[in-house]
Amino acid sequence: MTNKINMTLENIPFLRHDQYNFIKFQLKIIVHAHSTIKDEEVINTVKLSSMDKIFSLLPNLTENQQALLSKIVDIEVHNQAELFLTELKSYVIPFRNTTEKTLTKLFPKVKKFKGPDLNAIDYREISYIGWYDIRSERKFLVTEHNEKLIGFQGTFMKSIKGICSLCNQYEDVGLFMANVRTGKETYTNRGNYICVDSHKCNQNLTTLDKLHYFIELLGK
Ligand SMILES: [Zn+2]
Repeated sequence: MTNKINMTLENIPFLRHDQYNFIKFQLKIIVHAHSTIKDEEVINTVKLSSMDKIFSLLPNLTENQQALLSKIVDIEVHNQAELFLTELKSYVIPFRNTTEKTLTKLFPKVKKFKGPDLNAIDYREISYIGWYDIRSERKFLVTEHNEKLIGFQGTFMKSIKGICSLCNQYEDVGLFMANVRTGKETYTNRGNYICVDSHKCNQNLTTLDKLHYFIELLGK
């Protein structure tokens, strides 16, 4: 009972969305091990290795947060993993609340700006907002960097199979070409292949390293 009360009091989001995805990925490995390996010792080794990776990723956990994540050792099948992930999702820090007005301000030079359907977005499931505007044939990306919302836009040519510069997975990608300021009055075009489906891309993100590199490359 005491534990339960403590847990409720401390029900504060502490996971980034990509860290949640990382844990989800480790759970997949554990469930797969349970369904394919008979040797208990080998399964335990897989579990310990996953737990190790998770705790290394999150070194500053409180006791209750550690207790929450330690439940992973009891997970064997897909349904248990799903239940656990549903519980864990309430601890994910949502993406910053964003309105159409906020987005419009990020792209002051775009005429007749058209943002995405923000109501359709689950803010605990994204590290960035990405959408394609058919009319202008441009792709827009909005993310948080140094506690500020930043936006990129570029032409977007669909599509081939390849490695995405944001999530590092093999997906349907397109060439995102942005005009980047390199000096006082000099600009250059920089192209990167990124996922066509930004929702899928967000689901793939288990680290923000590539996203941060992308931001640096585009000079923000
Ligand atoms: Zn991607």
